[in-house]
Amino acid sequence: MPALVLLVALTVLAAAAVYAAGCWLAPFGPCGRCHGHDRLCRRCDGTGRRVRAGRRLHTYLRALYREGSRPDPGRRPERRRP
Ligand SMILES: [Zn+2]
Repeated sequence: MPALVLLVALTVLAAAAVYAAGCWLAPFGPCGRCHGHDRLCRRCDGTGRRVRAGRRLHTYLRALYREGSRPDPGRRPERRRP
């Protein structure tokens, strides 16, 4: 039984790694709404291509990390209590 759990975990990790590599190599996917046939599609702006969900997640996590790790130059420093 533990071998089956390990096999499932490794399969899920391998699938996630393949999807992450796919998002890195090809960040744009086809538009699911118009499939590239509607020039007035608001979801893809008529290009027929949209940013993939994995790439959007990557961009969100990078922005979150940046926001949390760099000091904001416009923010006043916190006052220290005596
Ligand atoms: Zn579209």
